[in-house]
Amino acid sequence: MKESLAIFGGEPVRKTKIFYGKQDITESDVKEVARVMMSDLITQGPEAVALEKALCQFTGAKYCSMVSNGTAALHIAALAADIQPGDEVIVTPITFAASANCILYCGGIPVFADIHPETYNIDPEDIRRKITSKTKAIVAVDFTGQPVEADAIRRICDEFNLIFIEDAAHSIASSYKGKMVGNIADITTMSFHPVKTITGGEGGAILTNDPDLHHKISLYRTHGITKDETQYEYENEGTWYHEQQLLGYNYRITDFQSALIHNQFRRIDSYKARRQEIVKQYNDAFDKIPELIVQKEIDGADSCRHLYVLRLNFDKLNCNRKQFFDALSAENVQPQVHYIPTYYFPYYQRLGYKKGLCPNAEAYYDSALSLPLYPKLTDEDVKDVIKAVKKICAYYAKR
Ligand SMILES: *Cc1c(COP(=O)(O)O)cnc(C)c1O
Repeated sequence: MKESLAIFGGEPVRKTKIFYGKQDITESDVKEVARVMMSDLITQGPEAVALEKALCQFTGAKYCSMVSNGTAALHIAALAADIQPGDEVIVTPITFAASANCILYCGGIPVFADIHPETYNIDPEDIRRKITSKTKAIVAVDFTGQPVEADAIRRICDEFNLIFIEDAAHSIASSYKGKMVGNIADITTMSFHPVKTITGGEGGAILTNDPDLHHKISLYRTHGITKDETQYEYENEGTWYHEQQLLGYNYRITDFQSALIHNQFRRIDSYKARRQEIVKQYNDAFDKIPELIVQKEIDGADSCRHLYVLRLNFDKLNCNRKQFFDALSAENVQPQVHYIPTYYFPYYQRLGYKKGLCPNAEAYYDSALSLPLYPKLTDEDVKDVIKAVKKICAYYAKR
């Protein structure tokens, strides 16, 4: 029996709307921010350093640099990788625009490689096909929090002498074959925007094991200026002396944001456990429904999912993505779509990118929607989401 959908005047599955993501700010977070606000140093200082240490310890990475946001982290990663005008960098189109924009900031050329049709991460086979003599780096995104196939990507990077940049905006606390994200690629970037797993309002991090890359990253973060006398090119003229050695930026983070991120980070294990629990509940519910397609887990991945993506199987449904999306929203379960392929945007189209470039990514985009996923979702909320999805499936099913 088909229930009447809320979008056609039926009773919605729930009274209040749930969104796809939501930050979790506690009393203790507020206290930490207030404590630092009242201290002598409020911009980047000891709190940022303490957080860098904590992220190194957690991931196993040797070096970490906190920055103002995830986009700044990607920009610095591209600068440290020495992306020059005309250099090609391979990137996935199923990501937030910043993953490719950071290449353009340096005058580089984003070359889009297609995604794997079942894991939705960049496909190492297609990376190989897109390599030319101008390729300098790969920006691989751990989409939804699932780490990329790092073994295959590392082999390609070694073979063609490329820098492996991992955009881990979604994947803090994930691991691949026993190695934590942050300790896998040449450079890993993170974001602490409010929709991400932990937040500082804004914030970013750059991790590496390479001392030379770390040195460049530190310079680019603060105008290219160093106060480390062991690094001076010219004579140290006195205690006031410092040197600008390259053209950097002001990408510092404040110390009160660092304290907020650090305090949230103390809850990372429980966040991960809860996110994994919710993903399992969704997977168990949707796996057996032929109208739906569940994201495939990569071998060796232990994912702390930031997003839960569901795909619609149009062979078995009498609706399109927009109809399903709007119907779910009317049931008061607000989905989102991650992501519009980057090269679909007018800016990229004007640069000459054409639709048809990455068929898997395009088919993915037409059929995907993201369901609510954040630690504060109750079991009741999760049941409502499942109920709403099933209700719409039953309504539009061809069977
Ligand atoms: C959020 C996000 C970014 C950008 O991070 P900001 O902190 O918002 O600048 C980059 N890449 C991906 C995949 C993201 O999700």
